Amino acid sequence: MAEKDYYKTLGVNREASSDEIKKAFRKLALKHHPDKNQGNKESEKKFKEINEAYEVLKDEQKRAAYDRYGAEGAQNFNRAGGGGFQGQAGGFEDFADVFGDIFGDFVGRRGGSSSAKRQNSNGADIRYNTEISLEEAYTGVKCNVKFRVAGVCGECNASGTKSKNGTVDCSTCHGSGKVRYQQGFFMIEKTCVNCAGSGVTIKDPCVKCKGQGRYEQEKNLSVQIPAGISDGAKIRVAKEGEAGIRGGAAGDLYIYVSIMAHDFYQRENENLYCSVPIKMVTAILGGSIEIPTIDGNVAKVNITPGTQSGAKLRLQGKGMPIMQTSKYGDLYINIGVELPVKVTAKQRELLEEFDKIHQSGANPKTEGFFAKMKNFVSDIKKHN
Ligand SMILES: [Zn+2]
Ligand SMILES: [Zn+2]
Repeated sequence: MAEKDYYKTLGVNREASSDEIKKAFRKLALKHHPDKNQGNKESEKKFKEINEAYEVLKDEQKRAAYDRYGAEGAQNFNRAGGGGFQGQAGGFEDFADVFGDIFGDFVGRRGGSSSAKRQNSNGADIRYNTEISLEEAYTGVKCNVKFRVAGVCGECNASGTKSKNGTVDCSTCHGSGKVRYQQGFFMIEKTCVNCAGSGVTIKDPCVKCKGQGRYEQEKNLSVQIPAGISDGAKIRVAKEGEAGIRGGAAGDLYIYVSIMAHDFYQRENENLYCSVPIKMVTAILGGSIEIPTIDGNVAKVNITPGTQSGAKLRLQGKGMPIMQTSKYGDLYINIGVELPVKVTAKQRELLEEFDKIHQSGANPKTEGFFAKMKNFVSDIKKHN
């Protein structure tokens, strides 16, 4: 199928402004509206097409995704934005967040408190993504977090003014951050434009922070990720987010931890699972195998004679640490008996010899299966 050209569908060029797109859509939608074209299949199809095109082009972010990745990109954007990431991120549903994983570490923002009397004075929370290995999750690890964010201005001590008493109540709103005016019968309340809702104006703004009491700086923190942390967990570091305006409360830093897949172990809560192949002769005669454990040691594991494929062994306490306790989960080993994929002439001779010396009860499953099968076949014969 040819790639859909949404611009062509709406009859606009690729540089069209959102107003032009809107106008073009309205004109076409009126022309092809089903109410005006009853029973006209061609118009019905056209109407669907222009709706689909407008759905994408009216939204700046979807339009950008479409420009870069085509119609499918815009659809994927719909899906990702539609929920895939929401549950986990809880409140970070913007574009950067949805595509954040693609770009690796990134810093996202979410708005500060808006319920305060004076708006916009609190700093935003910051999200930081980090990825650690399973071994690091086992031992715990120091995470060096480096990002740029508005920090407190040391020059003016967050006051935003050169002199101590350089702040005065905003003359427009008299310090409330809001202005009211009468419109007909109604009293309208709006955020004060003069002070952007802060309630104050600065007589002599600090040069370094331009009166904000904060400016963008590089932050370098070392944060301990505790042993036993689970994939997708977040760590809150209080007050290490964006600084507030002129001494407003700082936001928090949230470190989102994801754990890389391990070559050998799969994790389920505090327990680890791994599959271990053993040789046929070890399975038959028994023996011992060595298994590396997540703590960096090697565990000697006894294989009892006659061990079958699918046998599960449990190494107690060799799993992940359980947070806020001194306990550990277990390591479960799933045994797979590997048969030789080739044999020498001598080995064949020995195996044939081995098979000749039949010992009743040595293969209970096989013997039981064929005994049952015999009964089943003779039963069918009887009934026919
Ligand atoms: Zn300053
Ligand atoms: Zn004001």
